[in-house]
Amino acid sequence: MKTSHVATANVLELFRQRGGSLYGGEAVTEQEHALQAAWLAEQAGAPPALIVAALLHDIGHLLHNLPEDAPDHGIDDRHEHSGASWLRRYFGPEVAEPVRLHVAAKRYLCAVEPRYLQQLSAPSQLSLRLQGGAMSPEEVHDFERHPHAQAAVRLRHWDDAAKIAGLETPLLEHFARYFTQVDENRGEPAT
Ligand code: FE
Repeated sequence: MKTSHVATANVLELFRQRGGSLYGGEAVTEQEHALQAAWLAEQAGAPPALIVAALLHDIGHLLHNLPEDAPDHGIDDRHEHSGASWLRRYFGPEVAEPVRLHVAAKRYLCAVEPRYLQQLSAPSQLSLRLQGGAMSPEEVHDFERHPHAQAAVRLRHWDDAAKIAGLETPLLEHFARYFTQVDENRGEPAT
């Protein structure tokens, strides 16, 4: 069976089981948040791999059994790492790396755009503190040299905007069609 078919089946099942949980203290569910992020990426003309990354950037939240309010208890679920590892089974670095870096991108933007922090939602500001706060100048330098840094920053902006209660979007199946367009370039072995 093609990798993209397995990915589609597993993603649909994960969202069916867990996608209805609230997105970390926001007014949308995990599934609504994922669909809005992918919809913003698609409308921005992003390449298929980045649309898939936007859709699945928080898949790590669906892979653990921590409570939705874990950050209120001082727990960082490190979902960007668990999510990227999971995605490497099916996709190459152009999907997995922006996902792995989307929390770093928040810390980066807090360092380089003075107004960025203020427009983050309260839950996102809380998790930022658990994730290490704004980057140091050295971290900024290192982040900017990463080949997927630009993609991660684009993804971050869609992530931040994808929190609108009641917004209508295309369905999960619409975005899952992009899986077939990226698994041909699958680059990294499964971990
Ligand atoms: Fe998110």
